Amino acid sequence: MPRSPKPRVAVFKFASCDGCQLSLLDCEDELLAVAGAIEIADFREATSAVAPGPYDLVLVEGSITTAHDVELIKQVRSQAKFLLTIGACATAGGIQALRNWADVAEFTRAVYAHPEYISTLATSTPVSAHVPVDFELRGCPISKTQLVEVVSAYLDDRAPNVPNESVCVECKRRGTVCVVVARGTPCLGPVTQTGCGAICPSYARGCYGCFGPQDTPNAASLVHRFRDLGMSPENVVRVFRTFNAGAPAFREASEQAEGMAP
Ligand code: SF4
Ligand code: SF4
Repeated sequence: MPRSPKPRVAVFKFASCDGCQLSLLDCEDELLAVAGAIEIADFREATSAVAPGPYDLVLVEGSITTAHDVELIKQVRSQAKFLLTIGACATAGGIQALRNWADVAEFTRAVYAHPEYISTLATSTPVSAHVPVDFELRGCPISKTQLVEVVSAYLDDRAPNVPNESVCVECKRRGTVCVVVARGTPCLGPVTQTGCGAICPSYARGCYGCFGPQDTPNAASLVHRFRDLGMSPENVVRVFRTFNAGAPAFREASEQAEGMAP
């Protein structure tokens, strides 16, 4: 389909901490380079000027946690030619997906003085659970480099070059000593998509899985490796239930560990 000369870009937020939008704002130099090539039609974190859709490129941050979100994301999808979800919240449900294993009514009673005013779903789910998504950019927060690559690829009408290999590959490239092998430290690097530059292992810490599962993760085996390292099932569950707890591979691994004998 032919595009207008200046693609119209919009950014929408759902349940999130705004960190991924801040990553977008942090791309100052790169954004200046593309600013002349696009029209920012709706980006309320950056400007109060709002222009109605339809939009060529829509970036969505955040997970779906209310009935209102469910309706709004359908409206956003109907206005978007290309829908790009950014961050662990939008692509996996975020840290707030921990509610998926809990009693939300109990949470609201514990947190709010008037829980009767809270209207929320029992689950936090990724955008892709509700509408078709054209590309998912992982990370908590997303990588500026990967974001610029995806937006540039869209503007150039080509496929984005975002690697889907594991963090382990990045460790090997950097020459980082493996914390599992050398120290017996649990690390999610073998099942996590690269994008951070393998920062944590380079400081002798295990990977926390911020970028979510890579394409072909063998998380079931990693659960057994963690148990061999002496971790309790409870701690294995905790390792997999963080920012990307709702991503299928991490969710299944955590439930696998949950079913293990102490
Ligand atoms: S993915 Fe992480 S940084 Fe991005 S909005 Fe969600 S919590 Fe914030
Ligand atoms: S430290 Fe973690 S990410 Fe790096 S090679 Fe070892 S297991 Fe893989």
